[in-house]
Amino acid sequence: MATIQSATGPIDTADLGFTLMHEHVRVSWPPMDQQYPELFDREHEMTRALERMQAALDAGVKTMVDLTPIDLGRDAAHIADVARRSGMQIIVATGLYYTPYPFYFRMRDDKVMTDLFIRDITEGISTTGVRAGVIKCATEPEMHEMNERVLRASARAAIETGVPICTHTYPANRTGLDQQRVFKEEGLDLSHTVIGHSDDSDDFSYLEQIIQNGSYCGMDRIGIERPRTSEQRADMLAKLCEAGYANRITLSHDASCNFHWAPQELIDRMAETWKYTHIPLDVVPMLRERGVSDADIHQMTVGNPRAIFEGAAK
Ligand SMILES: [Zn+2]
Repeated sequence: MATIQSATGPIDTADLGFTLMHEHVRVSWPPMDQQYPELFDREHEMTRALERMQAALDAGVKTMVDLTPIDLGRDAAHIADVARRSGMQIIVATGLYYTPYPFYFRMRDDKVMTDLFIRDITEGISTTGVRAGVIKCATEPEMHEMNERVLRASARAAIETGVPICTHTYPANRTGLDQQRVFKEEGLDLSHTVIGHSDDSDDFSYLEQIIQNGSYCGMDRIGIERPRTSEQRADMLAKLCEAGYANRITLSHDASCNFHWAPQELIDRMAETWKYTHIPLDVVPMLRERGVSDADIHQMTVGNPRAIFEGAAK
């Protein structure tokens, strides 16, 4: 038995159930939230969030990992509110995105970053009392100097606290391998890491290398039709399962309840498949059609998330 932190308090890893490992409740851009709050109808956002969480719960999802980093508008109080009111178990992240200009940290010692990540995990985020349960890192389009510093600070916080790291990558440049190199240099056990957005790749050998190096492959953009359709992503998943890698794969959509990087009409057009229910309702049947066993599907959606949080909690 192992206990981890969710937005609404500690949960037993045995109770995680069907877990989506890379989603978001709300993605924004903090200067807009701060300087133009009138652009955001937060009450309407809550209504949308509760509708989407209910749909996911109805489809069998029990837990969601929210990988919104500090600089994309992470709002721990809002996430906790959505979790409490919907009944969805949500795990909150700390960490930074891939921007080369996280100005606060550029001229400070890396320990400042590490210590703040650790504080989010061990004490709580700001005054919310919500504790982060995972660290997010991102590398795109390639690893630059500041990004490497963020990855190292994240690895140190992960080693200190035992929470897993889940990443964003740009597979066209194979940045998952760069992340693994840095994590390994820092002494982090790669079985505590998920190299995310790996399903944007059509390169089997790249994915195999990530797995053989010891990380999980986050196949977590399912439902975003570019650069790969859900059918293409399902084909790759079937191939990986056939090769015996189901114990090293996690599934997710990278979807949101409210996403403020595009006009709402555009999001709604994408939302036909870019939503929390696409995997349980559409993709699981696609995998079965391709010969993936129920045991492998259970492994990817229930077994591996539990193993990732449990392994890191030890
Ligand atoms: Zn994401």
